[in-house]
Amino acid sequence: MTPAEVTDIFMTHLDVDHISGLLTGGEATYPNAVLHISGVEFDAWMHDMDREPEYVALAKRVARVYGERIKTFEYGDEVVPGITPRAARGHTFGHTRYDIDSKGVGMTIVGDLIHVAAIQMRWTDYCTIYDAHPTMAAAAREAVLADAAEHGRIFAGMHIKEIGRIERDPVRGYRFVSPR
Ligand SMILES: [Zn+2]
Repeated sequence: MTPAEVTDIFMTHLDVDHISGLLTGGEATYPNAVLHISGVEFDAWMHDMDREPEYVALAKRVARVYGERIKTFEYGDEVVPGITPRAARGHTFGHTRYDIDSKGVGMTIVGDLIHVAAIQMRWTDYCTIYDAHPTMAAAAREAVLADAAEHGRIFAGMHIKEIGRIERDPVRGYRFVSPR
């Protein structure tokens, strides 16, 4: 698949390590792709995001370059068949998780709610300095882990080395089910 053949890109949020690849030499890396993003997250970055100024500038540049191909959604909208964004706010103001469901198998992409799985899956109230709204982030982290454990959803995140089903840990928090 070539970059031009990519039709849809699903953004969990607009932090610099999630959007830098969208531009190549100032042009869209994916010239035909729609960028899906939560309206809450998009508006925050365009107006009053409290991230580093150069990160905000990059997000605005991406918005300019992709222009009409940015499509905002409400949480809970099934954006394309089988892919539903849900609120997972706190890491950034409009941070999103994606639930992907196909043929009875569910997967949750948790985005940046977890940076250090060994700690944050156990102590879900522990936040990194990257979580802009720690109380919201902690609640979202607990909620998404509980949901994935309860419903047997495959669990993955951008900063999590492992991927697979999770369960409640008998001592504290959650853990990946092994062997996977
Ligand atoms: Zn982030």
